[in-house]
Amino acid sequence: MKLLITGGAGFIGSAVIRHIISDTKDEVVNLDKLTYAGNLESLGAVSKSSRYVFEQVDICNRAEVDRVLAEHKPDAIMHLAAESHVDRSIDGPAAFIETNIVGTYTLLEAARQYWNGLDAERRENFRFHHISTDEVYGDLEGTNDLFTETTSYAPSSPYSASKASSDHLARAWQRTYGLPVLVTNCSNNYGPYHFPEKLIPLVILNALESKPLPVYGKGDQIRDWLYVEDHARALYKVVTEGKPGETYNIGGHNEKQNIEVVQTICDILQELRPQENNYRDLITHVKDRPGHDLRYAIDASKIQRELGWSPEETFETGIRKTVEWYLNNLDWCQRVQDGSYQRERLGASA
Ligand code: NAD
Repeated sequence: MKLLITGGAGFIGSAVIRHIISDTKDEVVNLDKLTYAGNLESLGAVSKSSRYVFEQVDICNRAEVDRVLAEHKPDAIMHLAAESHVDRSIDGPAAFIETNIVGTYTLLEAARQYWNGLDAERRENFRFHHISTDEVYGDLEGTNDLFTETTSYAPSSPYSASKASSDHLARAWQRTYGLPVLVTNCSNNYGPYHFPEKLIPLVILNALESKPLPVYGKGDQIRDWLYVEDHARALYKVVTEGKPGETYNIGGHNEKQNIEVVQTICDILQELRPQENNYRDLITHVKDRPGHDLRYAIDASKIQRELGWSPEETFETGIRKTVEWYLNNLDWCQRVQDGSYQRERLGASA
């Protein structure tokens, strides 16, 4: 099977590619614009595989997307390319509208034209897998409810509203044109190669430099955390075994308050890199994010029941692996933080 993966230089996309190249015999075409969030260094050794090709392309550029489809003739598309950081969407929503909505529309149209041109057997087997977030469902404040595949959409931020729009487009292309679309909505991911602007890596790296550990408001926001490699395994299962037209929620059954996450990281660091002052003393409460959702929680029983997927990591095992990975890969973090991962690639393509 040949998979076209958009956003393959990002946090989750790179985990999907590492999984496919290492654990299957499939081929991968990585289509990525390389925004600030794209880092080819996250692909490591797999990028040298003869089953891996990289195309630096913007999903909003229809002619280029058409060219990639015609040249590589994939059997499936896994669409992960997106602007993904909620705080950035509040400061500057335009890029979110452009990539997440217009880009997804452009990719769907290109995929539809390509799919229409396939022979009957390849048409039948083709898949368009749209990867989305549980944030489209909004907030579960004050309830014990879980998000299911039929929960109504109620996005709160420009990021989640743009992802909700793209989910609607993907499902409409299935319903109206018959494009074999699958949608997955997943909870918060964490793990190796996560950019230091996100909570978990930010806390680890700030703590190591004895900098304040910023926590929004009281830190009582609840997220359901999933180890990124568990997500990668789930996505591969969905694209290879899922039923077109279906949605699958993916979650880790790991509901934690943000403050608990930060305290756990401090305690692991205290054990692995002991220091005189407790890392917990660095925790600093900062003004809450506007429109901040209080609780997300996923019911992942459908993917477990129908496709036999469940997470291999608990939060306790996954967060320990993550802290250890950052401690062992400070050079990767350094190159992200000082911008050299971008400077070198700009130099290379100039
Ligand atoms: P990320 O920001 O780490 O990576 C996004 C990738 O997309 C980058 O490599 C970037 O260069 C690329 N990209 C951005 N705009 C592009 C464009 N116009 N054309 C081509 N490539 C472009 O994001 P992530 O955390 O890996 O998330 C991947 C997907 O999973 C997103 O769709 C996101 O909404 C979804 N998701 C993320 C999480 C999470 O916790 N991170 C949870 C659930 C769902």
